Amino acid sequence: MTMFKNKVALITGANRGIGFEISRQLGKNHGVTVILGTRNEQKGQEAAAKLKNEGVDAYAVRLDVANASAAGSLVDQIEDQFGRLDILVNNAGILLDWGMLPSQIDVNDLSRTLETNVVGTYAVTQAVLPLLRRSQSGRIVNLSSALGAFKELADPDPDYTQAMIPAYQISKAALNAVTVLFARELRDTTTKVNAADPGWVQTEMGTEAAPLTVEEGADTPVWLATLGKDGPTGGFFSSRRPLNW
Ligand code: NAP
Repeated sequence: MTMFKNKVALITGANRGIGFEISRQLGKNHGVTVILGTRNEQKGQEAAAKLKNEGVDAYAVRLDVANASAAGSLVDQIEDQFGRLDILVNNAGILLDWGMLPSQIDVNDLSRTLETNVVGTYAVTQAVLPLLRRSQSGRIVNLSSALGAFKELADPDPDYTQAMIPAYQISKAALNAVTVLFARELRDTTTKVNAADPGWVQTEMGTEAAPLTVEEGADTPVWLATLGKDGPTGGFFSSRRPLNW
């Protein structure tokens, strides 16, 4: 167990995929109490029950990050029920436009993607920040993607894929901006803000073709969520190593 034992984490989009595994690892390996934020209440309860069966102190709360106003009432709920929040993992995300060209995508898909991946993340972060600031070890981790790095976006021969995913890539580039701006605001505090690229992971979003298991994909986000006081802030990491923005 680590210095995060008995601390409290909120993980968005935690009913499946990488978010569920991050919750599992925070609970099992670090003794963190995990609050699973899920847009479907029943799926949230089922996911929390699975973790409880594994000995994790897990709870589910209803949170649709695309409904920005929901974040405000959630804070009161967390305050009442847990009295604190130490870790926020902004994991919820959607990908709607794999393999499309920028000239082809439906702008409604761009709006929906930004609403969830950027505005939703922003709203949740803003809402819970007063609680995180009260923690001696506030940690914010944003699930980004190397596909949103400008190096990748601008490269005619990109490292990861020739396919374009315009709305998703724009959303992750914007999320990276959100990460550095919050980190800058919080640089003189104990709250650290970092972005994680989990790699290409076997989930509904990543598909079965992905090389990494969810256990491997959750490793860097969990590492960033449990950084010691001398750990980095305002960075972008994959496999626990810095990535170019
Ligand atoms: P996933 O399997 O598609 O799971 C996404 C999760 O987000 C689900 O729990 C989903 O809930 C939830 N979600 C979506 N919209 C939501 C909303 N409005 N409010 C609350 N929850 C919402 O995706 P994943 O592969 O685990 O990805 C997790 C994160 O890692 C994402 O941010 C993704 O962009 C990032 N990432 C993934 C990969 C990869 O290879 N898989 C690579 C790089 C980055 P429902 O069950 O209700 O739909």
